[in-house]
Amino acid sequence: MKKLIIFLLILHQYQVVTAAEVNIYSARKEALIKPLLEQFTKETAINVNIVTGEADTLLKRLEVEGRNTPADVLLTVDVARLIRAKEKDLFQQVDSELLNKTIPEHYRDAELQWFGLSLRSRIIIYAPDRVKESELDSYIDLADDKWKKRICVRSSSNVYNQSLVAAMIANYGLEKTERWATGLVTNFARPPKGGDRDQIKAVAAGVCDVALVNNYYLAGMLESSQDAEVAAAKKIELFWPNQDGRGAHMNVSGAGILKSAKHKKEAIQLLEFLVSDTAQQWYADTNHEYSVNPAIESKSILKNWGKFKADILNLNLLGKHNKDAVLLMDRVGWK
Ligand code: FE
Repeated sequence: MKKLIIFLLILHQYQVVTAAEVNIYSARKEALIKPLLEQFTKETAINVNIVTGEADTLLKRLEVEGRNTPADVLLTVDVARLIRAKEKDLFQQVDSELLNKTIPEHYRDAELQWFGLSLRSRIIIYAPDRVKESELDSYIDLADDKWKKRICVRSSSNVYNQSLVAAMIANYGLEKTERWATGLVTNFARPPKGGDRDQIKAVAAGVCDVALVNNYYLAGMLESSQDAEVAAAKKIELFWPNQDGRGAHMNVSGAGILKSAKHKKEAIQLLEFLVSDTAQQWYADTNHEYSVNPAIESKSILKNWGKFKADILNLNLLGKHNKDAVLLMDRVGWK
């Protein structure tokens, strides 16, 4: 009996070690990553299993599962969650020459625990029939009286807004950011509601004149299969904020390898694949995100939008200021 148990244990271990697979917990919708994962499996013969869910739910799940989690990789669509995972001590350090070389320092963890895989900018969109391009300038300017009751933006519970405010705190300090946010909230055309696509639709419908959204939502609507989305997107224009200053605010989708990963080697291979030229081109052409590799240029709508100046603020700072950002938004009444 004892011998049988030992045999089974060895067999089990053998299977764990040899199974060419990698398990992902993903806050990114499966459709927005699946073609890439299939390509990875084709190239490497490593199978990918993916569990998708809301980022904070996945973080909770990882904490509960602890060392028994089947997950090797956590994928998120914003840096704040990557930093939260790091703070919860869920990630391990990954020293990959390829990742370090491809991903600029300001888009990865200072201790190499998470890595930005694609970039997204939080842009200003506007109704060209009611707003002149020359009236627009920076995020700071959106607190000006001239925008009274003219701005739409989603709720402060949304992490993209939290990261934008955290970046403002990093760039301008707490006091100036709070003054700005106070003015911005006064300029809201309606209490925050809906997602980024809803803000685009609201500007198109005349509910407000200006909104803050992530760039890929606008691109996605322009290429949507729904006529109403295309029609709404065509009614609005995009404006790159802060071009005379620090540049437009950037966030990342990214990933880290979990401390308890049972397929560490495969997980590293996966991250390295995701920064390869093929994968980065896919992010830029299909998902309408910007590549973390400055050498890759999008052939899609992003190309028509032209080049812009991106804020190169180190994203590690967004985690540092996330809590202050959330408290500040609450104080100024950003619902
Ligand atoms: Fe998004």
